[in-house]
This record gives sequence, C-alpha cells and structure tokens, in this order.
Amino acid sequence: ATAATTPLPVLGSDVTVPLVTGGEVTYAALDYAASAPALQRVWDDVAAYAPYYGSVHRGAGYLSQLSTDLFENSRRTVAEFLDCRDGDQVVFTRSTTDSLNLLAAALPADCQVFVFETEHHASLLPWRDARVTYLNAPRTPGDAVTTLERALADRDPYGPALVCVTGASNVTGELWPVKELAAAAHAHGARIVLDAAQLAPHHPVSVQELDVDWVAFSGHKLYAPFGSGVLAGRSDWLRAADPYLAGGGASRKVARRADGGVEVEWHTTAARHEAGSPNVIGVYAIAAACRALTEAGFDGLVAREQALVARVRAGLAEVPEVKVLSLFGDDAPRVGVISFVVEGWNSSHFAAALSAEYGIGVRDGLFCAHPLVRTLLGSDPQDPGECGAPEAEPGERSLNAIRVSFGAGTPDEHLDRFIGAVR
Ligand code: PMP
Repeated sequence: ATAATTPLPVLGSDVTVPLVTGGEVTYAALDYAASAPALQRVWDDVAAYAPYYGSVHRGAGYLSQLSTDLFENSRRTVAEFLDCRDGDQVVFTRSTTDSLNLLAAALPADCQVFVFETEHHASLLPWRDARVTYLNAPRTPGDAVTTLERALADRDPYGPALVCVTGASNVTGELWPVKELAAAAHAHGARIVLDAAQLAPHHPVSVQELDVDWVAFSGHKLYAPFGSGVLAGRSDWLRAADPYLAGGGASRKVARRADGGVEVEWHTTAARHEAGSPNVIGVYAIAAACRALTEAGFDGLVAREQALVARVRAGLAEVPEVKVLSLFGDDAPRVGVISFVVEGWNSSHFAAALSAEYGIGVRDGLFCAHPLVRTLLGSDPQDPGECGAPEAEPGERSLNAIRVSFGAGTPDEHLDRFIGAVR
C-alpha cells in the first residue's frame, strides 16, 4: 500500500454552489461524520458491475450466479477488512442503526446491557427493552474503564451481559479505549459490541486485536453509498435468536403442519437475519470501499487526517470565541470530527452562514447524542425541555453546537476555507 498524501478522489468534488455574496465556489463537504462522499473508486466498481446484476441465491442463470458470487465474496472481503475470527458471521444490514437493533433483538433471555449515556442514539436506544444500565459520562478514558468495571462487578454474575461502546465519538471525534473496555467486559463474563460507525472510516478495525465480540458500521460513512451496513462477529447468539425479519432467504424449509399452521426451519448462517432480497449493489459497494481503503493504506490515510486535525485545532485555537467540545480533554486523540460553539453566535445561524457565504457544508444541532451534547454544553442532561432550542443570544450559553468533519477525500483547501471563514 502506498501512503496517501493527497486526498482520495470522491464524487461531488467539482460541484459548485452559489454564494449569497455573489459568485460561486466549489462545495466544501465537511459533514463526513453524517455521510461521507462516495469514493470514485467505489462508484467505478459499482458502475462496472451494475449492468450485470441479477437475483442472488436462487437464480439459475449466469448473471444470478455472478451476483451471488459477488455478494458472498463481499462477505469475505468485509470479514478480512475487520480481521474477523474463523467462525464469525458477517450479516448485511441497512445501517449501523439496523445492525444494533438486530443485535438487541438477538439478546439471550435476561441479558443485562451496559451502555454509556454518551453514545449516539443508535447505540443508546435499541436496548430499552432489555435490562439496561446507563453509565454516567466518563471524563477520561481510564475513568470509562473503571466506571464499566464497577458496574460489571455489581452485576448478576451468572446471566449473560453485553457492553455497547463507540470506537470514536460522532460529536467530539475522541477515540474510546475499546481494547481496555473489551478486556474489562470479558474479565466479568460480559460480551462487547463496538459501534464503529465513526471509527471504521478513519482507522483500521481489527476484531481480533481489539477482542470485541461484534462490530457494527454503515456503508455511507465508509465512502460507499447509502442503504447498507454490517454487523459482524460471534455467531452463537445470532444463530440462537429468532430471525430479525421473517421471510424468504432466512428460511431453509417451510411446511404446513397438521394443526393448520406452518413449520419453519431457519438458516443458521448469516442468511437467518437477511430475509428478503438483499441490497446487492449496496453490499458490493461496501466491499469495494473496504478494498479501496485497504489499497490506499490506512497508515497514510491516518497520518494525513491527523495532520488535518492538527491544522483545524490550531486554526480554531486562534479564535478566542471558539470553544471546542471534548470529554477527555483538549489533547485527547481524535478522528476528523470536531464540534464547537462560538460565543455570541447561535450555532444554527453560524452553520447557515458557513453554507451561504462560503459554500461550506457542516452540521449543527445535537447530533443524535442529546445526553452527551447537553453534558458538553453544561446544560442538564436530564432536561428534555432544552433539546434543540437554538436561540442563544450573545452572551448566553449555546444549546446546540457546530460540527466539522472530514476524511480521506478532503482537500486541504476546504479546511483552510473553513478556518478562514470561522476567523
Ligand atoms: N453510531 C454512531 C457513532 C454514528 O455516528 C452514527 C451515525 N451518525 C450511527 C451510529 C448511526 O448510523 P446510521 O445512521 O448509518 O445507522
């Protein structure tokens, strides 16, 4: 793999947008944490395959066989990308949200779940029907580990338990101590699922090295298009659970019963949770993205992104009114995701001005992590009344934030324009 010192080509890099101040500029997409632009390589791979696609798994024709091979090979590509163990399953889903809801639906009876209140809602909410313990926001990575250890030490030691944790925060970009949390979970007989929605696009993720039981991520944040995601990991809970969706593809044998009902034998492979005709193009695109990132080389991608993170941090540090949000401290390692507030500015107005006056696309709000953003902004995490109320006057505390996020396709110029605009 060659070190990436220049951005990888992505779709939309030559799109121009009009400015309210007159003229037009190329659009600076700085909202990668929501959805990253697709890599040109991914698009080309999909375009080359698209004319040949056919039904998967049951078609006898040549194109069906081709599509089935590409679909099943995509599973192997993803398993390699994530460095899965022998015997792990790769289930194709619609998104990270879908993957975590699938796992929540597959929990063994009486499973206890432990999750930090700082998680994205996709990791926070699927466990509401289980015996869930929400853990308070830690203020250092070490604090996260001790908080988890303390909670696990108090748990019923004989029942099953699951810890759900993010690899990188979608708000602060901060990296979480996944390996240490996994060791703590396992030491107490619990399992762990990694929400890698924000980690996988920025860092190599090794299931074996991190020793996590499952990983979830989304294609549209990993430089593939919308509509496909992954849940990969241990097969036992997945094999024992009822299918996530009932239907064709998940069932191996179906027969009428003497009592008038139907008898079903479900697959025990990943197909068990993939009923219905799958998103073959979306799955193929994820595999294409995994190949493209691996070939580009994460060493170079990470080094370049870290240089960009340092540049943005330095640029923002020069503006006294800017306060960068962080849970673990200003120097904590982070991916290319940075949220901030600007004193005297309403965050929504600020983001709108970046768009209208500079052609820069960021995001403002609470980023589907309401308890975390409220904690970071110093408002009451338990007060739903404050949610989404954006009208902070000069001198008042902000009630939402601005997020700039970037990655493998971001040219330096976009970030320089952003820093200049903030200034
Ligand atoms: N987890 C994290 C950390 C995220 O940032 C996101 C998306 N913002 C999700 C989960 C959910 O991903 P999706 O919307 O693709 O389901």
